[in-house]
Amino acid sequence: MGTINHLIHGESVAGTGRSADVFNPSTGDAIHKVALADTATVQQAIDSAKTAFPAWRNTPAAKRAQIMFRFKQLLEQHEAEISKLISEEHGKTLEDAAGELKRGIENVEFACAAPEILKGEYSRNVGPNIDAWSDFQPVGVVAGITPFNFPAMVPLWMYPLAIVCGNCFILKPSERDPSSTLYIAQLLQEAGLPKGVLNVVHGDKEAVDALIEAPEVKALSFVGSTPIAEYIYAEGTKRGKRVQALGGAKNHAVLMPDADLDNAVSALMGAAYGSCGERCMAISVAVCVGDQIADAMIEKLKPQIKALKIGAGTSCGLDMGPLVTGAHRDKVQGYVDAGVAAGAELVVDGRGLSVAGNEKGFFLGGCLFDRVTPEMSIYKEEIFGPVLCVVRVNSLEEAMQLINDHEYGNGTCIFTRDGESARLFCDEIEVGMVGVNVPLPVPVAYHSFGGWKRSLFGDLHAYGPDGVRFYTRRKAITQRWPQRATHEAASFAFPSNG
Ligand code: NAD
Repeated sequence: MGTINHLIHGESVAGTGRSADVFNPSTGDAIHKVALADTATVQQAIDSAKTAFPAWRNTPAAKRAQIMFRFKQLLEQHEAEISKLISEEHGKTLEDAAGELKRGIENVEFACAAPEILKGEYSRNVGPNIDAWSDFQPVGVVAGITPFNFPAMVPLWMYPLAIVCGNCFILKPSERDPSSTLYIAQLLQEAGLPKGVLNVVHGDKEAVDALIEAPEVKALSFVGSTPIAEYIYAEGTKRGKRVQALGGAKNHAVLMPDADLDNAVSALMGAAYGSCGERCMAISVAVCVGDQIADAMIEKLKPQIKALKIGAGTSCGLDMGPLVTGAHRDKVQGYVDAGVAAGAELVVDGRGLSVAGNEKGFFLGGCLFDRVTPEMSIYKEEIFGPVLCVVRVNSLEEAMQLINDHEYGNGTCIFTRDGESARLFCDEIEVGMVGVNVPLPVPVAYHSFGGWKRSLFGDLHAYGPDGVRFYTRRKAITQRWPQRATHEAASFAFPSNG
C-alpha cells in the first residue's frame, strides 16, 4: 500500500509522522495511506508560498491566465484518469465523477478571464486634473480546506481563481479521497505554474489548526460540515483573517399540485439519490402541497427507487455507488432507524443491501420516508445519504414557512407550471440558491455559489464575482498631475467638488 504525499514547492514531500487509511468504498478495502501533515510540514508549505508570492503577484494577469488555459487542456485530456481516481476513493459513479470534473473546469475557464476580471475601475477628472481608479490586488498567502464529496470540483472552485488573482495557495484536501485532488494539482504544475504558487498538504485537524494559526495565511476558504465551518470562521476571523466557510444543508423541493409530475419525479430521483445523496445540494426533503400530489408522487417514486442500479462506482452504467466510509454508512442507517422509531412511514427500505462480488462495500439502498414531521431528526438534521423524506402540507405558504424555519438555507426548488407561485417562492424564500423546475440549482462559474443561514459563514459567496472580491483587496488610488505648475494655497476645508 503506497502513501500519498504532500506537494510542496513543486516537489513530492513524504510525511514525517501520522498517516491515515484511504478506502475504496466499493470493496471496503484500504487501498492507500495518506500522510497527515504536522505543524512543521504546514509551515514548510506556507514558507514556500511566501517565497513565491512577490514574483507571482507581479506576473502579468495575462501570463497567469495562459497557465490556466494549458491547465484546462490538461484536465480535459486526463478526464478518464481523474474520474477513475474520484470513483475509486469516493465511490460515486464514473459518469458522476466526470460531471463534477466538468463543473470544476468551468471555474478554470472563468479564471482564464483574469485580464478582464482584474481590470479594475477608472474615473478620469474626479476633480481638477485628478484621476481615480480602483485596483484589485492579491491578498497574499491564502488557504483552502475542502470536503470529501467533491474532491475535484470544490478545490477547483477555489485555487484557479485565487491564483489568477495573484495569490499563492495552500490546499488541504479531504483526507478521505485525496488522490484525484493531488493529481489535478500536479497537472497545474505541468501547465507551467511556478513552484510554491500552489502547495498541497494532506491532513486533519492538526493541519487545519496550523493554517488557522499561521499569521502569514491571510484568508481561508472552507467547504464542509457546519460545525467545522463555524469553528474555522470563529477561529480565523478572531485572528484577523478573511474567512468564507460553507457548511451543511437540508434542501427542500416543493411540489405544487400543478407540477409536471413525471418530470418532477425524474428530477427528484437524480437530485435525491445521485452520488448516494452525498451532495450539499442534494434534495433530501420533498414538500408536497396537498395529499393528491403526494400520493401520486410516491407511487411513481417507489418502483424507480427499488430499481436503482447500485454497484461499484468504477463500473459503467450505474445510478449509485456506495457511501464514502463504513462509519458514514452506519450513521446514515442510524438515521433511517431513528425515522422508523419516530413514527415516519418507511415506504422504501434500502437497509441491508448487499452487492454481489462487493459484499464488504459500504452500500445502502435508496430509502423513502412518507409522513415526516418537522420535529423528527430525519427532518431536522443533514443525513448526507440516499434518504428522501416527504412532508405533506396544505399550501405554498405553509411549505415556504417550513423551509424558512429550517436552520439551513443552501438550496431549494419548486416544481410548478404557475409563474405567480414561482415568483413568490423566489422572492420570499430564505435560501441562497433557488431552482424553478431545476432540482440542483448550482450556479454556473460566472455567478457565485453560497447558502444562507447556517449553510454559510462570511459575507461573500464562493467563486464567480464574489470569489474575485474574496481573493482580492481593493485599493483606491487618487492621482493629480497639474497641467501647469500653479501654486495652491493650503485649504483646511474637506476637499470636495462643491
Ligand atoms: P467535514 O466537515 O468532515 O470535513 C471538511 C474538511 O474539514 C476536511 O478537509 C477535513 O479534513 C476537515 N476537518 C474535519 N474535521 C475537522 C476538525 N475537527 N477541525 C478542523 N478541520 C476538520 O466534511 P465532509 O464530511 O468532508 O463533507 C461533507 C460535508 O460538507 C456536508 O456537511 C456537506 O453538506 C458539506 N458540503 C458543503 C458544501 C457547500 O457548498 N455548502 C459543498 C460540499 C460539501
